[in-house]
Amino acid sequence: MSNDLLIGKVTLITGASSGIGAAAARVFAAEGASVVLTARREDRLAALVHELRGKGAEAAYVVSDVTTGEGAAAAVDLALSEFGRLDAAFNNAGIGGDRTPLHLMTDDVYDSIMDVNVRGVFNCLRAEIAAMLPGGGGTIVNNSSVGGLVAIPTAAPYIASKHAVVGLTRAAADEYAKQGIRVNAVAPGTTRSEITADWFGRNPGLEELVNSMTPQGRTAEPEEVAAAAAWLLSDRCPFLTGTVLPVDGGFVNQ
Ligand code: NDP
Repeated sequence: MSNDLLIGKVTLITGASSGIGAAAARVFAAEGASVVLTARREDRLAALVHELRGKGAEAAYVVSDVTTGEGAAAAVDLALSEFGRLDAAFNNAGIGGDRTPLHLMTDDVYDSIMDVNVRGVFNCLRAEIAAMLPGGGGTIVNNSSVGGLVAIPTAAPYIASKHAVVGLTRAAADEYAKQGIRVNAVAPGTTRSEITADWFGRNPGLEELVNSMTPQGRTAEPEEVAAAAAWLLSDRCPFLTGTVLPVDGGFVNQ
């Protein structure tokens, strides 16, 4: 394997402190990217940057919250101050929220999911695109979900939020195509991470049920989602924009 998908690309990853985001930091750095990591848990980010630098990668982090415009801007500002530009971004930060029947959902659950999953991606797109335009373009991948393409019971705000990520992806791809910015999304199926460990831990039998509903019969490893994102962010697919790529073992194909 060549390990050169992202050589020289200054690449921002949100939600890099765990799960798919941390896997993306490792995969992108191994593919030659200079990575800028952001999330709220500083100890995780510091340890990951230390690990990546130890392997010879260029890496930096800033603690920020994507639900604010300032938080998203801080991550982009770090890319510019540390590496001089922003070439690529993986807008991955997101939360799952409790699984509850829609008629019992509280305002708090709805608001927190929408704030991180939708406003967070919007804030990041705004800051990233503003930074990419003067450089002549860039590539962005948003992390949606199979829940951005089909319904899953007892997760209405999450499903709505991930459909909105698809909408933001398509809108931004359309609006900036002529300015050299490609915007795509990945739609992971169930992936091993803290979100799913929590769900599976609290719901015995759920993992087996989910696996039985997936043609490949298993959950994804976070590196498998990161690999798809790396390819979409790379220059290997220059005519791809506005697409949503399921990384789901065949789940939405059924
Ligand atoms: P994790 O909980 O491991 O990762 C979520 C990441 O988002 C963490 O790094 C967390 O960092 C960060 N985050 C959460 N809220 C904020 C915030 N307000 N500001 C900045 N960062 C924030 O779960 P996953 O890796 O599974 O999730 C990553 C993405 O993948 C999410 O968008 C999720 O919806 C999506 N996804 C996951 C699937 C799965 O089965 N795991 C399936 C489909 C999609 P911190 O707490 O340090 O801020």
